[in-house]
Amino acid sequence: MTACRVCGAHIAKASYEASAPALTSMMAFIDIPTLAYVCDGCGHAQCADLPDIETFYDTTYRISLESDDHDQIFAVTADGTPIYRTDHQAAIGLRLLDLPQGAAILDYGAGKATTLRKMCAARPDLHPHVFDVSRDYVPAWDGWVAGEDQATYTVPEAWAGRFDAIISHFVIEHVAEPVGFLKTLRALLAPGGRVLLSMPDVAANPGDMTVADHLNHFSRASLNRALQLSGFALETIDSDAFPGAFFAVALRSEEPVAMAIDGDRQEIAAAAAKAREICDFWKQATRRLDGAAKQFSGKRAAVYGSGFYGSWICSRIEADVDFRVFLDQNPQLQGSTHFNRPVLAPANLDQDVDVVFVGLNPLKARAAIAGQAALHRPGLDLVWIDG
Ligand SMILES: [Zn+2]
Repeated sequence: MTACRVCGAHIAKASYEASAPALTSMMAFIDIPTLAYVCDGCGHAQCADLPDIETFYDTTYRISLESDDHDQIFAVTADGTPIYRTDHQAAIGLRLLDLPQGAAILDYGAGKATTLRKMCAARPDLHPHVFDVSRDYVPAWDGWVAGEDQATYTVPEAWAGRFDAIISHFVIEHVAEPVGFLKTLRALLAPGGRVLLSMPDVAANPGDMTVADHLNHFSRASLNRALQLSGFALETIDSDAFPGAFFAVALRSEEPVAMAIDGDRQEIAAAAAKAREICDFWKQATRRLDGAAKQFSGKRAAVYGSGFYGSWICSRIEADVDFRVFLDQNPQLQGSTHFNRPVLAPANLDQDVDVVFVGLNPLKARAAIAGQAALHRPGLDLVWIDG
């Protein structure tokens, strides 16, 4: 049993369980089981706590420190043009936040704060501030964020009530207590200030449900509840601008925010049902993949996709099949290695490979593979995680 991270309701048992190791968002395995829970009180889904969470984010979790490009491409257009995550986030932020001239803006959980840097390049009047729970990013801030506008580990008391806007991209899914986190952000905003949050949308990318360091898997209903409980009035949830993610804007409310009413119950029930459906998908996918690994035992295999799904497949099949290469259409990853295998462009698949395991978001996998001629030759088997 556990308690809901949003509404505190008691959750009797996990809806999905898998034995250790668990896979993190950085494609690293950690020695804990995967446990996913679903709350009927607010429609939230969540994973079990990480051991030693502070150390994990201080010294283990590093996004994009090695290069400016690494891991920053979130999509590739049909003609092969990469789209960079931070360019897209900056554009969405400027569009969704109505930033006054000279606005004081804080990037909370900033990492290198590339998104804020790009917003300030477009709007030189903005006054940037950054915060993260690691000092690893300080060199990336120096030169464009004043020293007194940088904070690590703890936020200065003098920052209370200072900001016209706070952006926090892909942070809230990692925090153990999201309502406490949002209350912290609220206290940093000036009256009338707004927060822009981004986070994975598990309904649009079911793989998120089993990412070990994503402690929260928000639905619209549970995000709305978390904002209400922390003194925010939700203005916008945009689930179209960024594939597989929510972008939400909420206003610091000066009055108590009305709690969910009866009309929300249907939405909560639907969100909980969707989360359980995703947990069932993972149970079936695990069984299917274990069966396929036995079926193709000893065969020469490739895995299409070197992200979360592909890494998970690798862990399930490598003991049985002769797993040789990853295929990935992301040009930044081609030529690298992942779990000791080369990552190749799909067109460069060797003729002697017998089977390709498709490690992509199952909601998009068939459309992505349909356009890859090299995967449609006679004698090549394809294994899908969704049957
Ligand atoms: Zn709940």
